[in-house]
Amino acid sequence: MNYINDTHAAQPISATHGYCKACKTSHYLPLDPALPYCRELMDRLDSSASILLQQETPPDHNLSTKSLFGEARGKMFGVMVARNPDGIHQVLHAFSGQYNGLWQVPGWAPPLFNLELFHRIHDAREREIKGITSKLAEIPPQTKQWQTLRTTRKQLSRKLMQDIFSIYRLRNFRGASISLEKAFIGSGLPTGTGDCCGPKLLVWAATRQLRPVGMAEFYWGRKNKSGTRKHGVIYPSCAEKCQPLLGFLLCRSNHDPR
Ligand SMILES: [Zn+2]
Ligand SMILES: [Zn+2]
Repeated sequence: MNYINDTHAAQPISATHGYCKACKTSHYLPLDPALPYCRELMDRLDSSASILLQQETPPDHNLSTKSLFGEARGKMFGVMVARNPDGIHQVLHAFSGQYNGLWQVPGWAPPLFNLELFHRIHDAREREIKGITSKLAEIPPQTKQWQTLRTTRKQLSRKLMQDIFSIYRLRNFRGASISLEKAFIGSGLPTGTGDCCGPKLLVWAATRQLRPVGMAEFYWGRKNKSGTRKHGVIYPSCAEKCQPLLGFLLCRSNHDPR
């Protein structure tokens, strides 16, 4: 199994880490304990060509991994080994963002927001934005009407993104639950913040009274356009979206829940 070491990590090399404002220090979560489970998930994806984890889930073509090797390209997956209050190990799985348009798939970490609320905020406005895009294609570019419409679209998109970010809730092992904006170190949330596997797994573990023991994230499918992500390779949590959240998310993660 290949993996890229995060050479910038001060200590435990390749551990997930981030600076915590509350403790004024960095918190770490090792990679190694998750590696055997990571291998297991890779083998499973390989042999079943599907992300189906729970047998009771009705077979759905949307769960096939075929799309990851085509135009849509690959995706990051995450595996966490965690222990419950009785010390028993459990394995948690996550995919980044949506899977073939699905935010929630049984057996996989849920998104960091309430899905019903998301659809209420998102769907109608997304249709409105798409409507403007179609109109723009019909109007001669650079005319006044075209420019006005384009500005409107930009403003609507920005407002939509802000409103979506506002429904994300980050829960950590101290029991604190805060918004993305409050948890994020730095200014300006990059698109997709909170949708990576690391935050999903950590919030899911905290919500279920589990304590993480190790975590690994790997890429599966056709390499990304820039070539920075390759099939079957383990990568550290991303620096731009995840690291600014990880200090908060990992806070007290190594303490016993009882
Ligand atoms: Zn990330
Ligand atoms: Zn802390």
